[in-house]
Amino acid sequence: MLGAPGAGKGTQARGVAECFGIPHISTGDILREAVAKRLPLGLAAQQEMEAGRLVSDKVVCGLVKERLQRPDAVSGFILDGFPRTLVQARYLDRLLRGRADLLVLNLRVDPELLVKRLTGRRSCPVCGQIYNIYFNPPRQEGRCDRESAKLVYRSDDNEQTIRQRFMAYEHGTKPLIEYYGRRNLLHDFDADGAPETITRQLCECLRKA
Ligand code: AMP
Repeated sequence: MLGAPGAGKGTQARGVAECFGIPHISTGDILREAVAKRLPLGLAAQQEMEAGRLVSDKVVCGLVKERLQRPDAVSGFILDGFPRTLVQARYLDRLLRGRADLLVLNLRVDPELLVKRLTGRRSCPVCGQIYNIYFNPPRQEGRCDRESAKLVYRSDDNEQTIRQRFMAYEHGTKPLIEYYGRRNLLHDFDADGAPETITRQLCECLRKA
């Protein structure tokens, strides 16, 4: 799943994973968990994450390699937030050689919408459900619909870090659109609209493939 920060990769990856019964693998989620648990991986990544910069390719590729070896990933998986650089994309190609066909879903969103999506984002610390206070608020203010837990926001969803994350996307990740486009692996989606509609379109595309 490709897309700028705020494009809805997390929300859509969850929807697609549920639809196909495959694991949703988010490098951001894995890194945030490692930071919270103060694991060595988290300590290596924390500074970069807080500044909105990319964590080193070596660290991220290592964690993806380990995750893809688990049994639940045997019949497919959805990667959210990986690859984010050409080095990571080439590494993924090597990991998947002889194992799986790659399909790249690119979420395109009006740049003006992206900032609101990020600053309005809230998530449930228990089930991970993502809300947005502007576009997709929970039924009860500040509480998860499923778990009733108090919603939290990500520490890197502040203006300065958001700016840095956009830069990391422009320089590091955008070239992947061409990288995959040239190989006819890229499927573009207009992701400005309602999340459920977009999930339906993504699942439809995957079913056809
Ligand atoms: P995300 O939840 O995907 O927005 O990721 C949050 C942060 O984790 C990013 O701003 C990066 O600092 C780090 N991160 C996640 N995935 C990667 C990746 N594939 N390569 C480098 N850094 C990453």
